[in-house]
Amino acid sequence: MKVSLNQKILSRNDDFAAKNKAYFRRRGILCLNFISSPGSGKTTVIARTIGALKGKLNIAVIEGDIKTDTDAQKIRAAGAEAVQIETHGACHLSAEQVANALTLLNSADAKVIIIENVGNLVCPSAFDLGEHRRVVVLSVPEGDDKPVKYPGTFAEADVVLINKIDLMDYLDFNLERVLADIRAVNPDAVILQISASTGEGMQAWYDWLTKNAGAE
Ligand code: MG
Ligand code: ZN
Repeated sequence: MKVSLNQKILSRNDDFAAKNKAYFRRRGILCLNFISSPGSGKTTVIARTIGALKGKLNIAVIEGDIKTDTDAQKIRAAGAEAVQIETHGACHLSAEQVANALTLLNSADAKVIIIENVGNLVCPSAFDLGEHRRVVVLSVPEGDDKPVKYPGTFAEADVVLINKIDLMDYLDFNLERVLADIRAVNPDAVILQISASTGEGMQAWYDWLTKNAGAE
């Protein structure tokens, strides 16, 4: 009998995810796992959120990228603490990497920790990082076929942010189809239409976040 490598990796991951969850519980922190394709605007959404909620909600960020710390620099410029994880080729974050990053965070008073996963709609959804909620970002220029092509990722989302809606008039993006395709795999997800660059629709997201962080 053989235990598949995948099973071993996932069970090791679950052990670290449980550790992370205990860390968040002890400190009363809400943890979000942001998942999307590359270029959907995750970092811009997070940076704008930090700026808008400054003084109301203390947010710290764990950035996952295959290479570079440019996203962590953007988050620091927005006014929050950020720890960068470079995965050196791996296409998703593991709970163990997040556990290591947590030891490097000094934001003792953070109410929210946002984990920005590696840009990829496939395997990040298979790795529990110990988060409370998953936020999937889908941007208009990526096209309206993503929910049918990656149903597993959308099925696991608590919130879907449809970003870059300011570009909807210029691109062939069937919003009705996207909403129906998300609903088909996930009737309960909160779906919000936003533009992190213009700020349109962002208030509903801030409201969801402050409410879920218990900071209303
Ligand atoms: Mg990013
Ligand atoms: Zn991967």
